[in-house]
Amino acid sequence: MGITSSRRELLVSASGAMLWGPALLNAADDGVDPAVAQVLSKTIGIDMHNHVYPAGTEPHPQRGQTRQPQEQPQGPELLLAEELKRSGLAAVCASFVLDFAQNDKPGDARDNFIRWLTAIDAQLEKGHIRRALTLKDLQAAHEHDQPTIVQTVEGSHFIEGHLDRVEEVYKRGLRHLQLLHEHDDMVSPLGDTNTTPAHLGGLTAFGAEVVKECNRLGIVVDLAHASHETVLGVLKVAKQPLIVSHTGLDSRLGSNPKMAQMMKPRLISKEHAKVVADAGGVIGVWTKMSESLKDFVGNIKAMVDAVGVDHVGIGSDTDLLSAKNGQGTNNAFPGSNVEFFRPIVAEMLFRGFTPEDIGKVGGANFCRVFGKVTAGHV
Ligand SMILES: [Zn+2]
Repeated sequence: MGITSSRRELLVSASGAMLWGPALLNAADDGVDPAVAQVLSKTIGIDMHNHVYPAGTEPHPQRGQTRQPQEQPQGPELLLAEELKRSGLAAVCASFVLDFAQNDKPGDARDNFIRWLTAIDAQLEKGHIRRALTLKDLQAAHEHDQPTIVQTVEGSHFIEGHLDRVEEVYKRGLRHLQLLHEHDDMVSPLGDTNTTPAHLGGLTAFGAEVVKECNRLGIVVDLAHASHETVLGVLKVAKQPLIVSHTGLDSRLGSNPKMAQMMKPRLISKEHAKVVADAGGVIGVWTKMSESLKDFVGNIKAMVDAVGVDHVGIGSDTDLLSAKNGQGTNNAFPGSNVEFFRPIVAEMLFRGFTPEDIGKVGGANFCRVFGKVTAGHV
């Protein structure tokens, strides 16, 4: 269905000074419910955790076995911008799972990470996609339909005891650093994770230095995969709010017992979520353990009930920007399709979230933290 200019004016005036975003134009053209289109027009859709692997950089699921180029699931001409537009999101935090790369000896993790940053640079140059360094860049992503990534990494194993490497990657565009994943930094571990028995006493002294360096430079600290003690240690030294980009509440185990057993250590307690929220942070709800869109929005609702709507976001933990999406599906949850964000907004409206609250969860909460942390830095 097309959209008339009079209808445009009506909607624009009805939404006051709000911007007339391309998301709304596309949505209306596709015959989407005007209420959904209206929310999309006002919401900067952001996925706080998404795996983005340009060809040649995807690590094998088994640690230390990098896929050969011919095994890459993505073609060399992955069009990030196109995929991002199809997802309905303005931006994703584009992450590289560093400890799943082939890191055999000190130096390898850094080399592997720099290789990924270089591959991302090439994608940015040819793919008409942008990199967010400031809040303005995220706002522009939505207002001017400029698909954008926030560069991040899952596990800071590239640091290897060299604090100056944080600034090195900052200069390459990194603005979001997930300190931990599953394996320790092989030279100087930063803190205990939530999947191995605690052996570091929470955050290490060097981990505290890394947090301070992130605060100094203007990099968002992400504590997904960190133990509760590690989070408490970070909160003692951090001068800025932090995020937990992808997780769920440990009371939401879903309907798949096998998955529940595997994922439970990666979930967080209400108490854990609350200390992050009380310090101004945001928790991204992942799509893992959701068997449907309804389940996913139920998990968002549970997190909102636990910590308040100002402290929840979406952290899908998928590879939405995969060439596989060209086949019309993605790995968010069964039935999820290339549109990803639009059905989530529709379901949230259906479940009684207000447009304002959908805006917060959909991206404004992440923007608040990103804006505060990066303010005054370029
Ligand atoms: Zn993860």
